[in-house]
Amino acid sequence: MEHDSTNPQVPPDENSKRRLVLRLLTRLRCSECGRLYDTEDFVLVHRWQDVWVLSTRCRHCNDSCHVVVFMHLEAETEPIGDLTPDELGTVDEWPAITADDVLDVHALLQEFDGDFDKLFTA
Ligand SMILES: [Zn+2]
Repeated sequence: MEHDSTNPQVPPDENSKRRLVLRLLTRLRCSECGRLYDTEDFVLVHRWQDVWVLSTRCRHCNDSCHVVVFMHLEAETEPIGDLTPDELGTVDEWPAITADDVLDVHALLQEFDGDFDKLFTA
């Protein structure tokens, strides 16, 4: 019996997603004063599958900030639970998630005002 559980190409599971988001948060700096945020100050506001919306307030300058994290791996496909065996064969070709990807998104959305309808219909 062969198992692929050690295959490094499989999409990240729930725990690795959380670790990835947490690792990203440790690198985020306040757009106002440039200091690192404290991950303990983040609150998960919303989550749709692989879109995470967190909010925080800088403990140095009190500036508030929303962070929207997109896990890119499912952006162009159906949810993984609906994939056929053939489609699962393409999973290996999905781009790896990197913290740099989500950092780009964060930079775009620093002005985000909390209007989710506008964000997802734009
Ligand atoms: Zn600040």
